[in-house]
Parts: sequence; structure tokens; C-alpha cells
Amino acid sequence: MHCHVEFWIPGEPGQLEARQIAEDMLDQVCGDFNDAHFDYGTVGGRWTGEHDGYKPYKDPANTRPCTHCGTTGVRTDTWRWAAGEGEKKSKQRGARIVGYRRGKVVMQGGIRCNACHGTGKEVLGTYNPHNGDVMPQSRIYRKLEAQHLIYVPKRCRKARVHGDGIKVLETLKELGLTGGTLVTGDCHY
Ligand SMILES: [Zn+2]
Repeated sequence: MHCHVEFWIPGEPGQLEARQIAEDMLDQVCGDFNDAHFDYGTVGGRWTGEHDGYKPYKDPANTRPCTHCGTTGVRTDTWRWAAGEGEKKSKQRGARIVGYRRGKVVMQGGIRCNACHGTGKEVLGTYNPHNGDVMPQSRIYRKLEAQHLIYVPKRCRKARVHGDGIKVLETLKELGLTGGTLVTGDCHY
């Protein structure tokens, strides 16, 4: 299961440095070792934009021309679909069944491309880095929530995974962590 994590880093390092520090913390809490919390994780990921409301899947920079429909937004290769399911979907979307071939339904008119939802552009599986994912604690909106906070406690060298379903700013206050930077992350376990 994927979960939204926030990394807390002391001070206000720049984009690249903050991302690198978050990556180092990921190395400490992800892996095959026994006390690892996660099997893998990444900065940003499916929670890219949580700090500022950015929608990565709507950004043209995170799309490419659809390889399934040749950017037309319409699939004409629908005869490959399983007869039962394809038949039902084709009726819903107005395509016409003209026959059967090798046990599969053959349709005319095509249907809206299910890879790009008819837009002709596919969303990339991995989003480009988004600057808003690195943000000073002072600029974080009050209601930001996350599954876990990951930080390195004082007099400690190793990153710790804290809380389970947290209000981020309240949790930082409880832990006495001030004047830092938050980095959005996506961890899997
Ligand atoms: Zn398409």
C-alpha cells in the first residue's frame, strides 16, 4: 500500500539539497532489512502537489502523445477486447458491433481511448519533480495531513518514522521541531 509521508529537514536547504537529504532518509527506512518500515519510497510520487494543490496529472509536462490511439483519442483496435466486456462497453459508448472474429467482438466506429480518456495524451507513470514538494515549514498550510512524519531526532543519526495518520504542523509542534523544511514523499509497504 502506498502512503503519503512528509520528511522534516532542519533549516531551509535548497531544492536539490533537500531532495538529497530526503533520499538519504528513505535509504534508512526502506529496504529488505528486518526493521525497515517500507519496501520502497520516493520523493513526490503520487503525493506530488500536496503542499500547494498542484495536480501533476493535469500538467502537460507530465504527458506524452498517447501510444494506444495515435493521439486521436479513439481506439479502433477494439475487436481485441474480450467479447462479453467489450460488447457491453461498446454499447455504452455508441460503437456498433459488426461481427465476430476468432471469438472476439468486432466493432465499427471505435470507442473513446481508455489509455488517455479521449484526450490523445497519456499521463506519464513517473511525474517530473515539482518545486512545491519542498517547502519551508512556515509556509505549510495549517490542515496538511500525512500518514507518517520521517525525521532524524536530536542526538540521533538514524531517521525515524513517526505517527500514523497525522496533522503535520501539530505533530511538529509536539515534537518541538521548528524552522525546518518539509518534503513530500510516497512510501510503499
Ligand atoms: Zn489514447
